[in-house]
Amino acid sequence: MITILKKNATKQQRDDLIQWLEARGLEVHVSEGEYQTVLGLVGDTSQIDEGLIDSLDFVEQVTRVTEVYKEASRKFHPEDTVVSIGDVRIGGGNFAMIAGPCSVESEKQILEVARSVSLAGAALLRGGAFKPRTSPYDFQGMKAEGLELLRKAKEETGMPIVSEIINVNHLPLFENVDVIQIGARNMQNFELLKAVGRTSKPVLLKRGLGSTLKELLMSAEYIMSEGNKNVILCERGIRTFEKYTRNTLDLSAIPVLREHTHLPIIVDPSHATGKASLVEPMALAAVAAGADGLMIEVHNDPERALCDGAQSLTPAQFAKLSAKVAKVREALA
Ligand code: PEP
Ligand code: MN
Repeated sequence: MITILKKNATKQQRDDLIQWLEARGLEVHVSEGEYQTVLGLVGDTSQIDEGLIDSLDFVEQVTRVTEVYKEASRKFHPEDTVVSIGDVRIGGGNFAMIAGPCSVESEKQILEVARSVSLAGAALLRGGAFKPRTSPYDFQGMKAEGLELLRKAKEETGMPIVSEIINVNHLPLFENVDVIQIGARNMQNFELLKAVGRTSKPVLLKRGLGSTLKELLMSAEYIMSEGNKNVILCERGIRTFEKYTRNTLDLSAIPVLREHTHLPIIVDPSHATGKASLVEPMALAAVAAGADGLMIEVHNDPERALCDGAQSLTPAQFAKLSAKVAKVREALA
């Protein structure tokens, strides 16, 4: 249930109403916007007489929220959420690019890529240290050592770092990681979602290979309901019958999510397409469709990459893409 207060509602009236609602066992989320204040009520609202609240002269409107997700819903929080990572902001009109290799492979590799993507306009550095691979015989990542190399790259370039967690027990290793990524395969690993929800680090939540947008929002709700509101959603393509691309990029996810949630929405055209030649057109399309950011795989030597070389851009290709992204954004402004 949400209660929208009139613009002239006093602090006293608001606090009294919140107290009254809390005394009935409800959790009250206050969202203060420029034009209105919204009280989002979480818990069993079946015993609440909405007519009674509606009759208060400082209440504008009372509505029952039918969505199963609450905290992620735009109805609860009409204004866009802006996630801050150091000086970088994503959401609410702030756009950011995340770039870097699929996996951290060596000090030389991650430093080279970090320097070049930073110069080309990326705000955040990505790099997998724990890799969820389809085959147990494939490169599984450099693990703790990989995280340490990312930390070095951050120290040198000043770029905050993004890395994927695959196991709750690894959380202590992620202390220096600025954004914790939950990969597509773990989108419904509810224990992992709850665990990152108990941290205060921004979480990049990727859509599952066969997950609906509602399921993605329910997974965001798992994180948010534990207290962590810094969630960034990532569309990375879903599995369809099409074989020419690794996945099918669902660009409609951007406007659909925009309607239903206040959380920032970014797009990963690298995993969506699986082919370096397709990354730029889909990245530009995502920006045109309103994405708050992009996540792009970049490798200094894609042909010899230990993971996802076929979809990785070279630093030079990334720099070109970055310039075109800026043009599309200008055209939209
Ligand atoms: C990744 O970002 O490296 C990754 C494994 O992506 P996804 O979870 O989308 O497959
Ligand atoms: Mn990858």
